[in-house]
Amino acid sequence: MVLGTASQVPTRHRNHNGYLLRWDGEGILFDPGEGTQRQMLRAGVAAHDINRICITHFHGDHSLGLAGVIQRINLDQVPHPVAAHYPASGQKFFDRLRYATAYRETVPLREEPVAEDGPVAQGGSYLLETRRLSHPVESFGYRITEPDGRRMVPERLARHGIKGPDVGRIQREGRLGGVTLEDVSEPRPGQCFAFVMDTRLCPGVHALAEGCDMLVIESTFLDEDERLATDHGHLTAGQAARVAREAGVRHLVLTHFSQRYTDPAEFERQARAAGFEGELTVAADLMRVPLPKRR
Ligand SMILES: [Zn+2]
Repeated sequence: MVLGTASQVPTRHRNHNGYLLRWDGEGILFDPGEGTQRQMLRAGVAAHDINRICITHFHGDHSLGLAGVIQRINLDQVPHPVAAHYPASGQKFFDRLRYATAYRETVPLREEPVAEDGPVAQGGSYLLETRRLSHPVESFGYRITEPDGRRMVPERLARHGIKGPDVGRIQREGRLGGVTLEDVSEPRPGQCFAFVMDTRLCPGVHALAEGCDMLVIESTFLDEDERLATDHGHLTAGQAARVAREAGVRHLVLTHFSQRYTDPAEFERQARAAGFEGELTVAADLMRVPLPKRR
């Protein structure tokens, strides 16, 4: 769910950043910029939907909304604990945003600052990892991977005469009499999602994007302003699309646009010109973008 798509300053049509990823019954809120609380309302996202908050870096367009969102989680007395990940070097910014004004704390908020590349959390059905990015302030991208599993094949179950409670038994125990789980199932590759915000090209961008089903990535600038992008630690539409092409990304979501551009279609044209042939979305506020179907 896209809550906002503007870089630096909101416009009449774009709120500051904000994205809610729904993943197997969990909600992960990425980079809540200013106004995120109201965008949640407009998008039908409740404070209860948030289990985890991931901040890439402490610029306002990625974090000013934290104060409001955290207070709302407490006001609504969300019944589960919430975890927050953010660059450890920005602890003082997190502290200020968390305690920006007076309110009653009713919900445990677990602070889990990120200081290096690697796994940061194991959710119910996924692994959350980070990679360092390259921006004027310390910035980390996030990657969510579901472990590979196996999918039961009804025809093969029928061929071996396995039905009812025996299906669960063979799933749990790996075999049933002379039949193994491999005989009646096929590999089911886990799904993968990556979130890459505010960075120039660097190894972390490629590592995060590798083989993803969906990549949400900043393309602040158009290709003609590549110099500007590199100087300020940002990407162009063409650069983001080339990363996605080389990484084999299935669905590319471009966002975080500079207010200097008026025609979103130009981002799409430049991404296609860079050779990306998968599914492509130029994000707009309040857009819902489904993960691609499993391979
Ligand atoms: Zn930004």
